[in-house]
Amino acid sequence: IKYTREDIMRICTEEKIRFIRLQFTDITGSLKNIAITTSQLEKALDNKCMFDGSSIEGFVRIEESDMYLVPDLDSFVIFPWMDAPGRTARLICDVYRPDGKPFAGDPRSVLRSVLDRAAKMGYTFNVGPECEFFLFKTDEDGQPTTDTNDKGGYFELGPIDLGEYARRDICLVLEDMGFEIEASHHEVANGQHEIDFKYDHALRAADDIMTFKLVVKSVAMQHKLHATFMPKPLFGEAGSGMHINMSLQKDGRNVFDDPNGENGLSKEAYGFIAGLMEHITGMTAVTNPLVNSYKRLVPGFEAPVYIAWSASNRSPLIRIPASRGIGTRIELRNPDPAANPYLVLALCLAAGLDGIERGLTPPPAIDGNIFLMSKKELEEKNVRSLPDSLKHAIRDMTQDQLVRDTLGEHIYNKYVEHKLHEWYEYTTRVTPWELDRYLVRY
Ligand code: ADP
Ligand code: GLU
Ligand code: MG
Ligand code: MG
Repeated sequence: IKYTREDIMRICTEEKIRFIRLQFTDITGSLKNIAITTSQLEKALDNKCMFDGSSIEGFVRIEESDMYLVPDLDSFVIFPWMDAPGRTARLICDVYRPDGKPFAGDPRSVLRSVLDRAAKMGYTFNVGPECEFFLFKTDEDGQPTTDTNDKGGYFELGPIDLGEYARRDICLVLEDMGFEIEASHHEVANGQHEIDFKYDHALRAADDIMTFKLVVKSVAMQHKLHATFMPKPLFGEAGSGMHINMSLQKDGRNVFDDPNGENGLSKEAYGFIAGLMEHITGMTAVTNPLVNSYKRLVPGFEAPVYIAWSASNRSPLIRIPASRGIGTRIELRNPDPAANPYLVLALCLAAGLDGIERGLTPPPAIDGNIFLMSKKELEEKNVRSLPDSLKHAIRDMTQDQLVRDTLGEHIYNKYVEHKLHEWYEYTTRVTPWELDRYLVRY
């Protein structure tokens, strides 16, 4: 929907909106907001809302901390699950510096710049994410536990699936906010769910992922459940992925579709796949941002480990779903929902465009179950693995110039610094597993 300044002023009056949340996302992918009352709305719409960026992760130093929020009018939406005593709406904002330039530490501006580059080539980038999550019970104090809310499995339905009511409410709220829900179902693990919404152009898709996570958590809480997008909350169970479905559109046509091409795919599609495969190790610290992310990327749980593609099989990193024509798309399976969606989509597009521009071709598809192949077979086929830890992912990130250029120096430096610290914090801890294993034995 397209809104003008006047539309928003009018709707706020008509709908008796009392609070406006001015939202943005920090580099770690956390949603941030400043709440204003409607008395400050005009000021906000004039881009005059300022905040102190120095305490936001990865933003700025104290000396240069003033930042301005510039609302994206088309992102205006009312929060249907919050109505008493005053109604609340939100505006997603771009972050600007006092000198009127976009702030280099704003992930949304990173995505915007890659999208501008694609637009110069005539491309619109369409993205449909599949976000998986767990619903856990909360205790008497309302704190999250790791007890799953049900004992359901893949596609299971009530009365086994107690999460069904929460999931239903989540879908209804999302629809009220303008999402087109394509499917929602129980996932493989106990207490695990997925809700798919329709693809959109990438900036909107990234905004939608942030909104989706907020809605899922908020509505789950109303059911006294804790929703988590942590990639691997339970050892020995499936983890939660955020598969990214992507296509490029030019002059109303799906660029990846070519009825005469091999597998019905165009040269651009193959270039895009090859670009993703070339840069994926350098991107993984962003697509799989947590220490915990790497506990999901292990064999046996439908999450990828090896860098390969297939048009028929779900085990590799990249899958080409069967649909062709306008639905032709590339599914990247390693990202998880803890990732910053703006940075993920910026890197996916930059990598794919690089493959197209350089006319790269991917290695042959691997259509068998890759997890059943021996080490020797994988070596013969030249199949590499994704980084196996956050540490290795950061190492690979520092070796990919395209990733660095796409993120820009500000975010690149802050990100590496932040993630190295996270790794250090984790790896110097003495864990229950170690005590269990070593305390008595040595
Ligand atoms: P899976 O089979 O892996 O569970 P789906 O087939 O349900 O995944 O596809 C999920 C996502 O793909 C949805 O968000 C859908 O809107 C999106 N999608 C469909 N067509 C396109 C397209 N042309 N470009 C990008 N995403 C698309
Ligand atoms: N949960 C799996 C993952 O971690 C994906 C399952 C599916 O294919 O939907 O990626
Ligand atoms: Mg799924
Ligand atoms: Mg999928």
